[in-house]
Parts: sequence; C-alpha cells; structure tokens
Amino acid sequence: MPTLENYLESNATRFEDELCDFVRIASVSADPNRKGEMVRAAQWVAGQLRSLNFTVEIIPTSGNPLVFAQSPHVPDAPTVLVYGHYDVQPAEPLEKWTTPPFEPAKRDGKLFARGATDDKGQVLSHIKSAEAVIKTQGKLPLNMKFLVEGEEEVGSVGLGEFLKSNAEKLGSDCIVISDGSQFAPGIPAINYGLRGIAYYEIHLQGPNRDLHSGSFGGSITNPANALAKILAGLIDEKGRVTIPGFYDDVVPLTDRERRQFAELPFVEQEYFRNVGVEGAVGEEGYTALERRWARPTFDICGLWSGYQGEGAKTVLPATAGAKISFRLVPNQTPEKIAAGLKRKLAELTPPGIQLEFIAHHGGPGVLVSLESPYIEAAARAIEFAFSRRPVFTREGGSIPIVAKFAEHLKVDILLLGWGQEDDNAHSPNEKFSLDDFHKAIKASAKLWEELAKISGEWRVESGE
Ligand SMILES: [Zn+2]
Repeated sequence: MPTLENYLESNATRFEDELCDFVRIASVSADPNRKGEMVRAAQWVAGQLRSLNFTVEIIPTSGNPLVFAQSPHVPDAPTVLVYGHYDVQPAEPLEKWTTPPFEPAKRDGKLFARGATDDKGQVLSHIKSAEAVIKTQGKLPLNMKFLVEGEEEVGSVGLGEFLKSNAEKLGSDCIVISDGSQFAPGIPAINYGLRGIAYYEIHLQGPNRDLHSGSFGGSITNPANALAKILAGLIDEKGRVTIPGFYDDVVPLTDRERRQFAELPFVEQEYFRNVGVEGAVGEEGYTALERRWARPTFDICGLWSGYQGEGAKTVLPATAGAKISFRLVPNQTPEKIAAGLKRKLAELTPPGIQLEFIAHHGGPGVLVSLESPYIEAAARAIEFAFSRRPVFTREGGSIPIVAKFAEHLKVDILLLGWGQEDDNAHSPNEKFSLDDFHKAIKASAKLWEELAKISGEWRVESGE
C-alpha cells in the first residue's frame, strides 16, 4: 500500500477536480428555485461517502435533506462525528465576480467559486482524508459519522428539529467542525470557545401623548431621559455590568489562556486603527482580545425616542425604547441573565414610567477545556500537516448550531477552520487556498489516527 504522503500527492489533482464538481452545483439554500440543486448536492455528498463503504442515508427534513453516514464499525474505538454543510450563500452581486460563481476557476493557487471555503472545500477535506486513510491503511482506525446539512446558511431549521430526537443516532466521543478560518495565513488555529448571546428590547411609556417641553418639562418624567439613565445604570465606571448575579457563573480566564492570548500576533493599536478609533474602554483589567473572546458584555444595539427630523422641536416625548444585547460566556445562561436584568430594570425605572420587557433570542456560550485530549490530538494532527503548532483562540460571536450540538450531544467540539479571514465567504470572489485544502486533508487524516489513540477509560470518565 502507498504511504499517506504518496497517496495524497498522487491524488491531489483528482481531489481538486472533485472539489470543482462539488462547487459547480449551485446549492443556494436561500433560493426557493434551487430545490433541485439542493438535492443534487446532497446526493453528491452521499455518493462520495458511499464510495468509501459508509452506510449513507439522505434524511428528509421540513427543508433541505440531511446527509448522514456511518463508517463500518470498529470495535473498542472512539467515534467522531464530522459536521458540515453543502448549502451555500447566494452569489449576488454577480457583476462583482471576476469569474462566474459556479464555474470554478484556479488563480494564484486558489480556487475561486461560491462555496469553495464555506463550506464545500472544508467538508470535502474530511471526506478525502477518510479516503486516504482507507486506501493507505486498509480501514479507518475509528468510527466515523458524517452529518452534512443543507440549511446552515438559512438557520439550520431542519437540523435543529432532527437533533432534538436523534441524540443517540449522533452519539459520539467528539465532534469535528471545519467551517471557519485559521488565525492568519500560515497560522492554523483551534477555536475552543464561543460566546453566547441574550437579546432584549425595552419600551418605556411616559405621559399619554407627546407634550410641550416648555409647559410640562421638569414636572413630568421624560422617557428619553429615563432611558438614558436606565441604560447608563446597567454598566459601571469599571466597565462591569451591574445586573445582580451577572458574573456569578462566569468561567474565569486561566493563566495559560491569558498567556496564550498575549502571545498571539495581535496588536491592539492596529486593531483600533482598523475600525477608525484611537483607543477604547472596556472592562477594567482585561486586554482587548480577552474582552472580545472571554468576557461578557452589554451593548446597546438600537435606541429611539423623540424628534428625529431636521431643526429643533421642543417636545417631551411620550415613549422611548432600546434593543440591547449581552454577549455571554460559559456558564452564563440567558434565563438567569433575564431574571437579573428584570430586577435591575425595575430598580432603575423612575416613577412616571411604565416599562415593557421583551426577550428575543438567546443561547449559551461554548467552551472546550484546553486539557481535553481531543484538543491535544487535533494540535498534533495540525502540526503534522502545517509544520507548526496551532494557536488556541476563542471567538466573540456565536455559532448557533455549535451551541445546539453542545446542548444536545454534550461532547467536546473541535472547531478546526481551514479557511482564511479574507476568503470572501458570503462575498463575491469567494476562494479557498488549494495549499490549505491539501494541508487540511493531511491534517484530518492524521487526526483520525490521533483520535483513535485516546483511551477508552478517558472516554468513559468524560462521558459521565
Ligand atoms: Zn459555513
């Protein structure tokens, strides 16, 4: 049998050709006229996995079908679940593309096409790595499950429904997701944490109509003044949120994490300059990266009241309102934050104002322990392929489907993004570096081997 390196090298062109076939399918989930393409993309993925002797199901949902596949059973070995998506973002505006979005083109070592990096190239890297292992070692060293959905770009509704009642079918020791970016070109990363979110809206009602600010001003509570005071009261001079119990469940940053963040090639002044500010305030005692990735926040996302037109209008407005969001970190929960927030708002609301509270969406954050053997296995695999150890990063935003996996499947999740920040995912001229594609295949092939080595005892302990 050929060695892994030989196999990857002699099949590199074919792998690229297959990626081209995959991205030629215009599987735009937002477009109701593309149902045929959605099915074709699902069948294409299914065909790939079937050729590896996986048992494959195409599972219908309320939206686009899920592809679920299982490798032949390997006793006494761990099970990994690989998640990805075959749907893509709309390609518009088409005139901004140098070459048409669904006619893949190679330029400067990159493949340009809608879906190249998000997520077809990254999904295919895992499928090709499984193929490479089977063709060079005779079989996979562990149990693999693939779950590839067709609605990631439109909210994963079908998958969300499926997850609720199929936790057992999806049962695994860890989940691998490649649907993101490396830290920078040549600097691969393992993302081990995401923030959650809690989003609310408040409406303030004062007098029963807009009033003359001369005749009534000073004697009636002004809802706009009250709103400003209430919102200002939710955060103190040290940048800390004043909601009772807000920090109770926050998992603190460890010394190791702070050291690792500090070692990243990240320059605060450049970061500020990039968004056109000279500096910034935030929670006292933390760096910008720590504030972004690992500390909870309060932000006003919208606010309104009173006269917005040209010139001056002397009005004491009857109403005011705001949309506010809290970025949460493990182990904060939106429910607990909402309860504390309501108490704080009641305390801050002055006489003469009625406050209405509306809870929008929310979800908890996700954090994988850096001590997890799965993290270390992934680090070794990445180092093998990229010739450097990955950096460990967290992410300030949320990935709703990851939070759902964490909630329903309760196993460690490895977020191994093979793309680059400037890959134009969701924009014209989306691309994927072919060098990254091949390194990703090599890293994944090594990952299956590394994961297979993790002992049964650890898995039993961690599952409890
Ligand atoms: Zn994606």
